[in-house]
Amino acid sequence: MTDCLFCKIIAGEIPSSKVYEDDLIFVFKDINPKAEIHLLIIPKEHIDRLDNVSESQAPVLTAMLQKLPELAESQGLTDGFRTIINTGPAGGQEVYHLHMHLLGGKQLPGFH
Ligand code: IMP
Repeated sequence: MTDCLFCKIIAGEIPSSKVYEDDLIFVFKDINPKAEIHLLIIPKEHIDRLDNVSESQAPVLTAMLQKLPELAESQGLTDGFRTIINTGPAGGQEVYHLHMHLLGGKQLPGFH
């Protein structure tokens, strides 16, 4: 999608601190980190939000999840981490290209 911030980051048209990429996913540091470590894991294909993932697109969700242990280890998150996917206005989503937040570092506050 031409007017999508994260598509432009994938294409290298907007700079980012890339951590990892393969055929399906791209991972980079959040520009405004909410934790000591804050990465964003995104599909290379433009998908606007979690509740619009089609059946044929679903394998990218598995790819995003399967990469978590390796990413966490590479960032020194040996004792756990938090993942968040904000979905839609009520879910606090600001960028409409599906992304999973990976947060960790210092002890995170409880989320209940
Ligand atoms: P959301 O609220 O779940 O949509 O999260 C969007 C995230 O994208 C926020 O944590 C922002 O800090 C992050 N973000 C916005 N623009 C950029 C950028 O250009 N580079 C890296 N992260 C960004």
